[in-house]
Amino acid sequence: MKRGGELQRGSGLVRRSALGRVPKMGRADGAREAIEAMAFPKRKSMKRSRSVMTPLRKSAQGEGCTIQKVGACLHDPKTVVLVHMRWLGDCGGSLKPTDLQAVYACSGCNRWTDSPTPAETADRAAYEAERDFYCLRALVRTQLRMVAKGLITVKGIAV
Ligand SMILES: [Zn+2]
Repeated sequence: MKRGGELQRGSGLVRRSALGRVPKMGRADGAREAIEAMAFPKRKSMKRSRSVMTPLRKSAQGEGCTIQKVGACLHDPKTVVLVHMRWLGDCGGSLKPTDLQAVYACSGCNRWTDSPTPAETADRAAYEAERDFYCLRALVRTQLRMVAKGLITVKGIAV
């Protein structure tokens, strides 16, 4: 079997009109293009949207880790990035979570939340409860820092 030949980018799974298989529809080109655009809307690939450095993602540079999981945290600001908490929902497939659903986290804590070892998840319920505690605390810490920097504004709160 030829591997990778069928699903390569630009190899056929393009915005090709179903109408193209019925060449004599009697429509002007402009109308056909409009129909194609509606039937196959352009989607941003996850990889492309991930690489965009939003102000909130940039703000992670030089920050301290907000998760600080005992035994996993590196306590090294050089490894801190804005880590999205996908397990909370509101994402999936090509939908990425909003930057408000993210925390400043070092690579050690990022690994612990994203790819825990089997030993760390031997008691899955305990792991998830601990992860949720650390990440809820980290979310509050992160958002308070973002508010202090003027990166996010929330009406009606006392800071
Ligand atoms: Zn950490």
